[in-house]
Amino acid sequence: MSGDVVVLDQVGKRYAGDVVALADVSLRIGYGELVAIVGPSGSGKSTMLNVIGTLDRPTSGTVVIDGHDVARLSDRRLSALRATRIGFVFQQFHLAPGVPVVDNVADGLLYAGVPRRERRRRAEAALDRVGLGHRLGHRPHQLSGGERQRVAVARAVVGEPAVLLADEPTGNLDTGSGAAVLDLLYDLHRAGTTVVVITHDREIAEALPRQVRMRDGRIRTDSRLTSSGVS
Ligand code: ADP
Repeated sequence: MSGDVVVLDQVGKRYAGDVVALADVSLRIGYGELVAIVGPSGSGKSTMLNVIGTLDRPTSGTVVIDGHDVARLSDRRLSALRATRIGFVFQQFHLAPGVPVVDNVADGLLYAGVPRRERRRRAEAALDRVGLGHRLGHRPHQLSGGERQRVAVARAVVGEPAVLLADEPTGNLDTGSGAAVLDLLYDLHRAGTTVVVITHDREIAEALPRQVRMRDGRIRTDSRLTSSGVS
């Protein structure tokens, strides 16, 4: 698909007490890109994630996700867009405790109207894809942190979202497991998934093909790695 999956045009977000979390942010992310949004604590990354993920509406400006102008959608249609076109991965995994891994992933399709058997078939395929096809019946507490995060990635992509938003996806993992999760995000990117990684970790950001650097609610730089280095 051509065009941009994320379009932010002069987006601002203010909180009560005159806190400016985002100021005049314009950003386009094309289908199939792998992008890092990086910046120190308080720079506006989570606010940006919430706005792109349609969890929060901006105070000003325009947000278009997968071709939909978010301001024009009712809350119901916005929820549907979020459930079917946006995948989320969080630092804390957010898996349902005590529920077998395959059902945790299949539940990612509940809102897409997919019949139960098909949900399970797709969940098994997604778990295969993240290297956990042999752990279908395990409960989250029986898995390592890195494995739990791979389950969370499987759940996020099982519905083939237009964009995968990963918020500090390696923040709770040791270096080795974190690297494996990043490799997985790379694999998904190579297979065509759009991936946006929010991180405060410059090392992680520098390994990704495009880096959007935030500070004080603004984009400071937006650079791409090219075959000849940073552009
Ligand atoms: P980051 O994710 O980069 O740490 P945030 O987007 O969480 O940054 O925060 C950006 C700014 O907005 C910070 O100054 C923060 O204190 C403020 N902020 C974030 N959420 C709220 C809120 N719900 N109410 C008031 N201020 C907030």
